[in-house]
Order: sequence, then structure tokens, then C-alpha cells
Amino acid sequence: MANKQHLTMTSAWQSKIRSVLWFSFLSLCIIASLSILSAPVFSTGQSQIEEKYPVQTAPEKCISSSGSPLPADRSFTASQYGSSSDFPITASVSRIESNASLFRINYSISPSYDGNLQLKPLKGAAPVENHGFVKGSFGSGYIWNKSTRTPSLVFELVSFEDGLEYPRGENWMIGPSLQHTGNVTLQMNPNGSIGPDFMYIGDYSTEIKKVGCQKLLLVVPDPLKPELSVSKSRIVNTVAESSRRLNVGAARNVVRMYAVEGSLGQYGNNEPSGYTTTSGNFLATASQGFDRADNVWIHEYVHTRQDYIAISGSQWTVEGTATYLTARLAVEQGLATPRQYDSVLARSEVLPNGTSLNENHQRTKYAYFWGASTLSSLEHELDESNATIEDLLRFMNRQATVQQPMLDDWSKERTNKNYSLHTVVFSGKSPEPRYLLGPSWLPPEARIVIPLFATLPLRIFSLALLIISLYRLNEGYVGISLEDIQD
Ligand SMILES: [Zn+2]
Repeated sequence: MANKQHLTMTSAWQSKIRSVLWFSFLSLCIIASLSILSAPVFSTGQSQIEEKYPVQTAPEKCISSSGSPLPADRSFTASQYGSSSDFPITASVSRIESNASLFRINYSISPSYDGNLQLKPLKGAAPVENHGFVKGSFGSGYIWNKSTRTPSLVFELVSFEDGLEYPRGENWMIGPSLQHTGNVTLQMNPNGSIGPDFMYIGDYSTEIKKVGCQKLLLVVPDPLKPELSVSKSRIVNTVAESSRRLNVGAARNVVRMYAVEGSLGQYGNNEPSGYTTTSGNFLATASQGFDRADNVWIHEYVHTRQDYIAISGSQWTVEGTATYLTARLAVEQGLATPRQYDSVLARSEVLPNGTSLNENHQRTKYAYFWGASTLSSLEHELDESNATIEDLLRFMNRQATVQQPMLDDWSKERTNKNYSLHTVVFSGKSPEPRYLLGPSWLPPEARIVIPLFATLPLRIFSLALLIISLYRLNEGYVGISLEDIQD
């Protein structure tokens, strides 16, 4: 009997331990499923930064894209331009199909014209064929020598800035804008468009949006391979909304935005996904994902609103403000969750210490990530004085040149004594980012993974796991009777 009693006890205990283990396992499944299912809930909370940037009115004061000899709102195409008889010189621009990086300019000069013709130097284009021009001294370009009424030039596109290259596809290419002295009718063959900075040869489609005094003009190769990650209207609407929200001055009257395929070359260790000129026109890679805290269209647009020259240790602010304000604008517009915003800031923690932010060249990873991280903590410190990083950018735009000591002074007046921008910038250590949600207890690599919790397949899987767990838990509960425990 005693033996049987012992056996009954043992099996009862074993059954109890099994039940407890089973119960713990199912509870874990439920907790994991619930946390994945509720990840989007944790990831909302836009109100946290919404009040920082109330929706601004559209830009009311625009500056013209300065320095451009062509009015920024003029675009010549073969089909659009009809009054060429007014001008004595016609320049027909075409791509040389056999070599993707070559283009030709054929001039036709009327017999009655005895004036001069000069093509200004082209950034990033080397002449490979020349009929009827002499090269001017001191980089003054190409001067017509009057030996023929049909002179021509062929150029090859080369790197235009430290490894950056003009993009091109099968049926289109982008090169430097052509600028002449005198009145020249430009014809793009078979089609194309000329802006103040870039010349586009090939078929294209456009999307135009007016926002206040600003005109946003998107040029997209037609057809484009790979496809744009989003529609043209979504791109211009997003940029327009960013334009409204950025009350920092320096809005250009026309912003030309070119969607391009492939890479823009190599800039140091970086493979840039966009490039903005000093007169506020930009190239952006079309295949780049759109719903991101580092959205390339917003990033390049923020650059168009910068109108200062950074010197003496302040160079980091160019990419720093672009990266930081892009992350904010992306969250405010619902393109990114606060967790994705945090993951952009978290990148600053993976860069090795030992470099001071002020020593950095404008486009190093430090400028992007340490710069953004520094600005996130500065913005927090500015809370008391009600100032923002937007105010800082507006301040910089009002200066011709910006130096680090000016930024130190500006922030000293607006933060309490315990904070020093100077110390953060000169410390040579990773700046402490100011996260929206954290979680700062996770390593940066793990934080980057968090947005995956919000993906649909993982959430459906979790829901299934949750239902199975609840069902099994219910079965398990019925299986343990009160009698078993009393034995
Ligand atoms: Zn940039």
C-alpha cells in the first residue's frame, strides 16, 4: 500500500511539474505574441514631437535659384520650344548612343550673325571632339573661332565632384547644364530638359506642385527601371509638406528634383543616394525605400533650405541637420515610426570614438550620425527656452559663413549652464542621442531590428501562436483536476 501511495504521489508530482512547465511555456508564447502584436502600439506616439513643429504656412518669401544664367522656370525641349527664329544660333544636343557617357552639341549659326559664341566650362564633362572652337584661357570655356557656321563639340561625362558621377540609364542621361553667352536656342534631341544645374537628355515625365511661392518640379525618366518605390504625386506631396513645415528661410522659387536609377558613384566610403547643388536642385535615387526615417527625398530637400557656408569646425552641421530634420519630418508626416527615428540616432553609437565632430569633413559618417545625435540632445536641452533645431538652422541661414564658436554662443544663450554644445562637439566621444522611445537598454544593433516586429507576416504568425497557446492552455487547465493535487 505504502508503495502504491508513493507511486501515486510521484506521478501526481510529475504531472504537476509537467503542468507548471507547460503553463510557463504557453505563457511565454502568449507574452511574446502579445508584444509583437502590440509593437505598432508602442511605436506610435507622434504627439511627442508633433507640437515642436506646428504645421507652418507655405513659404511666403522665395529666393531665386541664384547664379543661373537660365531663368529657373524655363525648360527647353524640342517639342515645347517654337520661336527659334528669334535667335541666330541653334544648339542641338543629343546623346551618342554607342557610348552611354557621351553627348554631342551641333551648332547652327545664321550667316548674318557676326557676334561671339562662347560655351561656359562644363562641370564634370571632358571634351573629346572639337570642330570650330578654341579653348579659352583660365577656364573660360569654349570660344567659337568663326571657321565654320556649323561647329560642334562632343563631351564625355567624368566624375563631377570627388568621385560623384552623373547618373544615366538605357534611354536617358543627366549631365551638366549648358550655359552660353548670347542668345542660343537649345534643342534637346530627341527630347530632354535643361535646368540651371543639370541637363537631362531622353524621354521623361514630370509632376509639378506649387507650395506657397515655391514650385516643385519632379523629373522622372520614362520608362524608369527599376520603378519608383512610390508614386510621383506622393514624392511631391511629401516634399511639399516638408516645405510647409520647415520655417527656416532659403526657400528657392523652383526646386528641380530628378529621380535617377542606380548609384551616384562613390564619395569616400559612402555610396550617396542623393546630391543637391548649391542652387537647390537635386538628384535622388528612385529605388530607395520611401517610408523611412532617412527618406532620401526629404533629406535632399532639407539641403535645398540650407543657405550658409560652414567653416571652422561647423561643417558637421550640413549633414547633421539634414539627417536629424529628415528623421523628424518623416515621423511627423507618418512615414516613419518613432522607433525607426530612434534607429537612425542609434547609428551614432556604432561609430568608434576618438574623432572630434568638429574635425570632420562635411560628408563623413560622423557628420551624419554623430551630427544628428548631437542635435537630438541639443533640441532636448533647448526645450526650456522653447527654441528648436529649426531655429538653429534659421540662424545659420542668416549668416554668410558659420563657425563652430557661433553655434556654441547661440546654444549657450538658450540652454542651462550644465549643457555645453562645445563640450559635446569637441569630446571625441559618441554623443548621447536623445531617443523618442528608447529603448536605450537594447544594443544599437538590436534597436534597428525592432521595426521588424511591426511587419505583417510576423504579426500574423504571432496571432496564430497566441490562438494556439490559449487553446492549449485551456485544455491543460481542464486536464489538472483538484483530486490529482489532493493525492
Ligand atoms: Zn546630405
